[in-house]
Amino acid sequence: MGIYEDLGIEKVVNAAGPATRLGGPRMAPEAARAMREAAEHCVPIDHLQAKAGSIIADLLGTEAGYVTSGASAGLTLATAACLTGLDLARMESLPVTAGRPNEVIICREQRNGYDHAIRAAGAVLVEVGVDELGSGAGARRAETWEIEQAISERTAAVAYFATPRSEPALEEVIAVTQRRGVPLILDVAGQLPPASNLRRYGASGADAVVFSGGKAIRGPQGTGILAGRRDLIMAAALQNLDMDEHPSTWDPPDSLIDVARIPGIPRHGIGRGYKVSKEEIVGLIVALKAFASGENMDHLRECGRHLDRIVAGLNEIPGTRIHRQDASEPGGYPLVEITLDRGPDDRSAMSISRKLKQGNPAVYVAEYRLRYNALVIHPIGLNDEDVDILIERLGDVLSDGEVHHRTA
Ligand SMILES: *Cc1c(COP(=O)(O)O)cnc(C)c1O
Repeated sequence: MGIYEDLGIEKVVNAAGPATRLGGPRMAPEAARAMREAAEHCVPIDHLQAKAGSIIADLLGTEAGYVTSGASAGLTLATAACLTGLDLARMESLPVTAGRPNEVIICREQRNGYDHAIRAAGAVLVEVGVDELGSGAGARRAETWEIEQAISERTAAVAYFATPRSEPALEEVIAVTQRRGVPLILDVAGQLPPASNLRRYGASGADAVVFSGGKAIRGPQGTGILAGRRDLIMAAALQNLDMDEHPSTWDPPDSLIDVARIPGIPRHGIGRGYKVSKEEIVGLIVALKAFASGENMDHLRECGRHLDRIVAGLNEIPGTRIHRQDASEPGGYPLVEITLDRGPDDRSAMSISRKLKQGNPAVYVAEYRLRYNALVIHPIGLNDEDVDILIERLGDVLSDGEVHHRTA
C-alpha cells in the first residue's frame, strides 16, 4: 500500500499539463531526494534563502533572487516590495496603502486570475489600453504610450504578464519603466522551457521577475522564484521571513538583508503566510540547477516519445483528427490535439473530457480548446504507465463513447 491508498485517494492520469489542481507534474527525482535529506536537519532559513538567492541570481542574470511559495506568492511579495521599499512603517501597514503611491498599471487585456495576487498586497490596479482585435472593432491592441501616460506620483509599479503574443512588446515597456523610474513586475510563471528564458526574462531589465517552480522546472509544486533588484528582494524577504528576532542578536546574511539600510526589525509582514520550508528551498534549487543545465532535455525527449505513442495508439478512430504540435507552441512543450468531427452522434469534446474524468483511474486532459471541439494532451505529467492507460481509455471513449473500467 502506498500513501495515497492509505488515505483512500485515487491517483489520476494527468494529461492536462502542470496544473496546480492536479498537483502539477511529478517532481524531478533528484529534487525529491534532496528534500528528504533537507528534512533531516535544521538550518537558518534566511541564510538558506540568501544562498538560494545567489544561485538564482547567477542563473537568471539578476542582482538577487529568492524562493517563494509559488509564482503567485512571488507576485504578492514583489508588489509588497514596490509598495513599501525599505520603509518599515509601510511594511507594517500593508495591505492598507491609503495616501501612499499604491497604483499598479496593467494593460486591460493582460488582466487575469493571477492579478488578484497583486491586489492582495494592497495595490489598486489601473487598467490601460483596449484590445480592439478581440471585438473585431479595430486593428490595435494595448500600446506603450498608454502605459506611460498612466504613470503618476501615485504609481507603485507596472505589471506585465508575458507570453510570446503579449502586447505591447516587453522591450518597449521596459524602456518606458526604466526611463520613468517605475518598477516593472514581470510574470513569466509558465514561460519555460526553453531554459534560456530564465536569463532572457531575468536579465531583461524588469525589476522583479517571477517564475513558477512547480511547472516545467519540476521542483516542489508549492514553490516559485522571485528575482530582480537587490533592494526589492530585501524588502520582499523582510515581509516574508519569520521576524521573531531579538535586535541584539539578529544576524541576517548581508547579501539578502543589509541591516545598515533599516532602522530596526519589522514585525511579521504581509508575506509571512507565504512561508517556504527548508525542504522546498532545497528542492527548488536542485530542480532549477538541473533544469538550467539542460538535463530537462531528456525529460522533453521522453515527453516527445509519449506523444508519439499516443498518436500511434489512437490512429484511425473514425471522426477524429489527431494533430501533433511541436515544442514551439505556448509553454514550450510538444502537445497532441484531438479534434472531433461534428457528426450525427454529436460527440463533443466536453462530454469526452467528462467521461475521462469519471473513469477509474480518472484521466484529465487540457480543456482550453473545448470550444473548438478539441482536447489537448500535455505530456509533462505522464509516465509510461499513464500513457498505456491514456491510450486505452481515450481509444474506448472516442470509439464508442463508453467508459470501460479497468480491472486492476
Ligand atoms: C501558473 C501561473 C502562475 C502561478 O504560479 P504558481 O507557482 O502556481 O503560484 C502565475 N501566473 C501565470 C501567468 C501562471 O501561468
